Amino acid sequence: MADKKQNKRYNKNNDDDYNPKFRRPRKKVCALCANKDLELDYKNAEQLKKFVNEKGKILPRRATGACAKHQRDITLAVKRARHIAVLPYTQL
Ligand SMILES: [Zn+2]
Repeated sequence: MADKKQNKRYNKNNDDDYNPKFRRPRKKVCALCANKDLELDYKNAEQLKKFVNEKGKILPRRATGACAKHQRDITLAVKRARHIAVLPYTQL
């Protein structure tokens, strides 16, 4: 009886075979860290589009998967791109 209870609790804390509805997706690796050749360019709209949503807002780190350092670079690049009208500030 006591054993069963403990087992149940153990399973609850073990993420492996818990309710798949709440399973966390695998942590993304920063695209800019993974690919050293890839350099952010604020004049390259196609590249920066990956980091903004359809409204033109900059995506958060949980969406881009970027590390803190590269997220800062992304933010700066997007803001520069907006300033020179490569990217829109807003989109309906
Ligand atoms: Zn990075």
